[in-house]
This record gives sequence, C-alpha cells and structure tokens, in this order.
Amino acid sequence: MVSKEKCAICSEKIQFRYNPMDEWGIEGSICGNCYSKKINEHYPGEHVRVNKHLD
Ligand SMILES: [Zn+2]
Repeated sequence: MVSKEKCAICSEKIQFRYNPMDEWGIEGSICGNCYSKKINEHYPGEHVRVNKHLD
C-alpha cells in the first residue's frame, strides 16, 4: 500500500514512514532523508539509541 502521507519537515511524499522522536518536537511522520538528518543533528557520530532508557 502506497502512503500519501507527507513528511512533516520537507513535505515530500513519504515512501517509508519514520516516526520522529519525542525530543525532536515534530508532529506527524517524516521521510527517511529527514530522519537521517535529524539523527545526525541530534546524535552526531552516534548510532540511534532508541532503547537508551534501558541503560
Ligand atoms: Zn522529509
């Protein structure tokens, strides 16, 4: 099923939907490109740590 959803950041049509993290303050879903950018912005040089509360 093709999503007609648009990225909350760049407004491009989303093919693969990513959920922004709460701390990014973004409403809605974002595309892979913006997700990667945000990851680099917020966690430079780090891997994504979605389970950091488990540390
Ligand atoms: Zn985007």
